[in-house]
Amino acid sequence: MFSRFEKLSRRASELKRCFYCEALLPATSGEHIFNSSWGGSYKDKNLICCQCNSSFSNSTDKAFLIYVQAVMNSWIFKGERHDEVPKIVLENEYFLDPGAKLKLKQPLIEDEILPDGSIKSRLTFNSKSEAKRWIQGNGMANWLGRPASEEEKEQLKKIIIEAQLNITDAKPQPTSTQLNLREQYRSTAHTILKCLGFFLPEWVQGDLTKPIREFARYDKGDWRTFAIDTKELFPIAEQATRVLGLGVQQNSVEVYWSSYTKMVVGVLTILDRIKRSVVIAQDYCGSDSILYIVEGTHGSKKPPDSVFIEFDHKQFSLPLFNVQYFSSPTNIYQYFRDEFADLMGTRYPIDAITARLIQGIEKNNKKNLKIDQVSLEEYLNLFLTFFLDLGKITGNFVDRTTSRYKLLEYGFANLLHQHSGKLYTDPDVESIMTLVFKQTLKDFHSGGLSAG
Ligand SMILES: [Zn+2]
Repeated sequence: MFSRFEKLSRRASELKRCFYCEALLPATSGEHIFNSSWGGSYKDKNLICCQCNSSFSNSTDKAFLIYVQAVMNSWIFKGERHDEVPKIVLENEYFLDPGAKLKLKQPLIEDEILPDGSIKSRLTFNSKSEAKRWIQGNGMANWLGRPASEEEKEQLKKIIIEAQLNITDAKPQPTSTQLNLREQYRSTAHTILKCLGFFLPEWVQGDLTKPIREFARYDKGDWRTFAIDTKELFPIAEQATRVLGLGVQQNSVEVYWSSYTKMVVGVLTILDRIKRSVVIAQDYCGSDSILYIVEGTHGSKKPPDSVFIEFDHKQFSLPLFNVQYFSSPTNIYQYFRDEFADLMGTRYPIDAITARLIQGIEKNNKKNLKIDQVSLEEYLNLFLTFFLDLGKITGNFVDRTTSRYKLLEYGFANLLHQHSGKLYTDPDVESIMTLVFKQTLKDFHSGGLSAG
């Protein structure tokens, strides 16, 4: 089926001029291929000139920030230029600390006037130590409108020491933002063009890509003539992510050359969560191929990797079936609003609890525990917490006792009886735990964890 299947070599140095404005290269400073705020770290001086580089920094480079920060916050990692893992400030009283931990922006005081005229106050703090600081500092005095007496302070401290912790979990939170779709698509086009310049420089200099270059660099043309909704492309990025186990910590680009539609289409996937597709060229005639480019976000500064696949047209042609432009303005905004709501309301909190589960397992694994009643309980609780949280996020009730019973039934009980004394990193043990997870998740989806 394939007539070529190879890793392409880096050819950016063949570009003697900036592919936007024809200024001479190399530039004095390097350009990131994948934006640094998305975790990109590799830079090259042979792609575009410094002036063009800086023209993108004001708005285009920031177009995806809101999505990217959410992913980084939940998976607890940061981009090259971030000082720390991004925090997400919500519209209400809360912000999200790394790991999507819901925290109060400031101590929350809710006063309620009772029928007899007295006031009942409810104080909420992130932690007991924060509460103590609030009492000792200006917080309590501001609230009372006068300095607090020592007796009052002691009394409140006593209440706080005895208070039960009430942990608030990650859950859908109201958040709103201005989405600038035109800038998102310019950023997409810009990234895909740099990828092409890096591996197939002839493609960013030719006439066929002139319209998309003018759009990316000079904002010429209507973005809706470039933006497409590609639902049924060859799912290269998804396959690669799954097969290579890349997870969210990578950015990738796919380019599809299709003789059938006479189109060249590029797809950008940021952190395995945000996907945008653009028409790179029309009136294409030639063979059918796919280029897949991926770069990790672990700050290695290593150049992206590539795979190039060319198909034998007698046996196979890339169909690119559902290439659809976004037609009416209502459609467009509905589509992106839904996507955003899904990311923030569902995927993002689920990301956070998944990350917590994985990190919890890794932390436990480091202790080199052998399977026994006590250690098994630790792993069982991690799984149980995950399913209880999943219930809260999706609004489907999950019963603790039922879930615990199912987890035991699907393999945890077997681990204790048949694999006692083995390590949790033992391949047999790992595969049983994976199976337990999958089975229980299946039950969750079919409502099997809700019964009391
Ligand atoms: Zn330039």
